[in-house]
Amino acid sequence: MGFDGMLTSGKMGMNKRKSERTSTGTKTTPAERNIPPVLQIDDLSIHTRADSSGKRLVRNLNLTIQPGEMVALIGESGSGKSVTASAVTGLLPAPLSMSGGRILFQGRDTATLTSPERRAMLGKEISVVFQDYAGSFTPFIKIGKQLIEMIRRHMGWNKTTARVLATQALEQVELAAERVMDSYLFQLSGGQQQRVAIAAALMLEPDLLIADEPTTALDTLTGETILQLIDSLRHKTKCAVLFISHDLHHVIKRADRIAVMYGGEIVESGPTDVLVREARHPYTRFLLQSRMDLADVPARLQSIPGEPGAVSACGCPFALRCPVRIARCDSEAVPEMMVSDGHTARCHLIGEAQGDLGAAEITRTS
Ligand code: SF4
Repeated sequence: MGFDGMLTSGKMGMNKRKSERTSTGTKTTPAERNIPPVLQIDDLSIHTRADSSGKRLVRNLNLTIQPGEMVALIGESGSGKSVTASAVTGLLPAPLSMSGGRILFQGRDTATLTSPERRAMLGKEISVVFQDYAGSFTPFIKIGKQLIEMIRRHMGWNKTTARVLATQALEQVELAAERVMDSYLFQLSGGQQQRVAIAAALMLEPDLLIADEPTTALDTLTGETILQLIDSLRHKTKCAVLFISHDLHHVIKRADRIAVMYGGEIVESGPTDVLVREARHPYTRFLLQSRMDLADVPARLQSIPGEPGAVSACGCPFALRCPVRIARCDSEAVPEMMVSDGHTARCHLIGEAQGDLGAAEITRTS
């Protein structure tokens, strides 16, 4: 059985359909059919110390991902995207600590998992492609041996089948499989190492794939191939994907929903097409404005005003950089507000008069 075939067999043969039609022909989503989310994050807060006395990195974050859904977390470096991903896996680096909230994976609170349960979950049920892909492998053991061991440990196949699957997984990411199987990590380029990490993540047929900037080290064409592969996997297997990226082009092209982070908070989230069309938070609008259209490159690029990563200590985290802020933005925390069905944002101007925000032209900076 080939790798591609594997993706639609076994556990994946459980027909985890993303959308189905009712008798009237109307499409329904998993949420509408009350299918529980693969991942549910409730009110997550992360501090640099366990007792909340340290610096706050993530505040009151809520996020769900349904089977087969791709949700993108976007925002500047330091906005809390990768820290959130680490919390999902239980691999928050010390001294960071969850200071509030809970993370449910397949309905189970991950805080209650024992170490062996967590180890079994990682790889088999949750696969991760981190930015630090080299850290996923042992440098003094050949790649092939490591991949075969992973398949045998998590999927129970014999050595011969595991070797076939590992080889096919490497071929899927366009690597010379036999040569890579017989190589140590240091014998591969950065881009090749990244592709091996992605092959390892995909071959275990996860329920949730966390892809944290998965194409950072790759050229444009290879990056596109890798993202197509991830997209293909989630459509075939209904694997949920948490996609963390700076690249709005990739995110808009592939994600079902987008959550925009600034200063450790999700400041706006919604279905991709809605967010692109009707973004209401000034930060989201800046991000969308700063997209480059290669067919029409402007003479001067737009940038977001203020110091990148500057976070207001109280009130709205974006207040230090927001050109349309009002007095209470500096002092009053911003509650999450519903803009439309499935579309939420945290901005004082939305609650008062959405028209005001729309009329307030965001100044283009040069
Ligand atoms: S709450 Fe105020 S500072 Fe924050 S984005 Fe809205 S207008 Fe700007």
